[in-house]
Amino acid sequence: MARRSPLPSIPCFKMAAPPVQVQEVREVTRIERIGAHSHIRGLGLDDALEARNVSQGMVGQTSARRAAGIVLEMIKEGKIAGRAVLLAGQPGTGKTAIAMGMAQALGQGTPFTAIAGSEIFSLEMSKTEALTQAFRKSIGVRIKEETEIIEGEVVEIQIDKPAVGTGAKVGKLTLKTTEMETVYDLGQKMIESLTKEKVHAGDIITIDKATGKITKLGRSFTRARDYDAMGSTTKFVQCPEGELQKRKEVVHTVSLHEIDVINSRTQGFLALFSGDTGEIKSEVREQINSKVAEWREEGKAEIVPGVLFIDEVHMLDIECFSFLNRALETDMAPVLIMATNRGITRIRGTNYQSPHGVPIDLLDRLLIVSTSPYEEREIKQILKIRAEEEDVEISDDAVTVLTRIGMETSLRYAIQLITTAHLVCRRRKGTEVSVEDIKRVYSLFLDESRSTQFLKEYQQEFMFHEVGKCESAIC
Ligand code: ATP
Repeated sequence: MARRSPLPSIPCFKMAAPPVQVQEVREVTRIERIGAHSHIRGLGLDDALEARNVSQGMVGQTSARRAAGIVLEMIKEGKIAGRAVLLAGQPGTGKTAIAMGMAQALGQGTPFTAIAGSEIFSLEMSKTEALTQAFRKSIGVRIKEETEIIEGEVVEIQIDKPAVGTGAKVGKLTLKTTEMETVYDLGQKMIESLTKEKVHAGDIITIDKATGKITKLGRSFTRARDYDAMGSTTKFVQCPEGELQKRKEVVHTVSLHEIDVINSRTQGFLALFSGDTGEIKSEVREQINSKVAEWREEGKAEIVPGVLFIDEVHMLDIECFSFLNRALETDMAPVLIMATNRGITRIRGTNYQSPHGVPIDLLDRLLIVSTSPYEEREIKQILKIRAEEEDVEISDDAVTVLTRIGMETSLRYAIQLITTAHLVCRRRKGTEVSVEDIKRVYSLFLDESRSTQFLKEYQQEFMFHEVGKCESAIC
């Protein structure tokens, strides 16, 4: 018997070179990624904190928005640090949308962190570490810094070889002021600034000593003329008295978490970009806390309590809830906003049931804001706003059909049909989504109740069907 090679032999063909084919370049349909809440621009409240019916992308849900507006006002006045709010209501009633509206209304200066309850269950760090990081990301430290500015006239500029742009070197700028002749050697930053500002001898400039940034104020004409005429440093016009050194206040807002990461020897500041910060030692946090307390006493910094939003808070377990209870009592706590769509359910990690799956002692601390289901006209309005946000032309009849679908299934399902119907419309080279397009995608993609119906009819064909054993909605 012929011995078989352990490896199958690889047939070796000599192939004729294939004829060169010019591939038809087909236009690929571009799908813009648009976030679910990208149409929300604020809470849509007037000056008296009354909710306008349709404003800043927000529709209806007026009492919840009004309550959110009051919370917002208290946050802005710094009166509500360490308090917690629970947004409770059925799925798709705009709880996350309201939280996003609050974030928009708070603006850049106030930290806002959003996480989902399930996010904290990770293998990389403990639950309490993940929550601590989320808390500290939501506390801002506004640091005031005084930088010194030197103002004077440029007498001479000298940039060491090789020139700027080839990776080197140190720039020298000779300044003439009333008091002294100064040579500043601020390194690369100043060279960048020198070239950007196109500074010449004879220019009146300021230099920020901390950053090396140069700002050109104007030109001394006498000096310029001298310079042009003689081509070297000669006479100069003196700067007016009192303008030699100015002080300027610069305010930065950073989060406590950012300060932790920067000062943590194991992580280093680069971790801020990767987001892979790992666990941070408690000693580092203690040091940062006492440093920040020192800055506060010296008037160099102030604490800006921001907002931590935990969506699907029922996903947290009893340990997390007990952590939250305690964390809310610390003097640097942010405002905690939570959302849930659960009724009375089991608290994770226990066999006890509680409203919203949240322990009673935590519930007792919360301001609870409830959201209610939408009326037909509100669903219609939200669908119109979403179509506009997604740049979709849609006929009135199609919006009416979509609204009916939204009423009978869910707002979310109806919103999803906008995108899919738009794609179908583009395939048929249409410009406006029609009732037919909506019908087509409605038959292609099942909503939750039709999917459940399908399961009930064909359960025998599925693997591991356990109808009758489980307690979920489909049984
Ligand atoms: P769940 O409990 O399932 O998490 P939710 O209450 O957080 O639901 P959202 O995700 O806020 O619901 O709402 C579903 C969709 O409807 C989102 O795209 C949201 O932006 C939009 N939406 C909900 N309510 C409003 C509203 N009042 N105005 C404008 N858009 C809204």
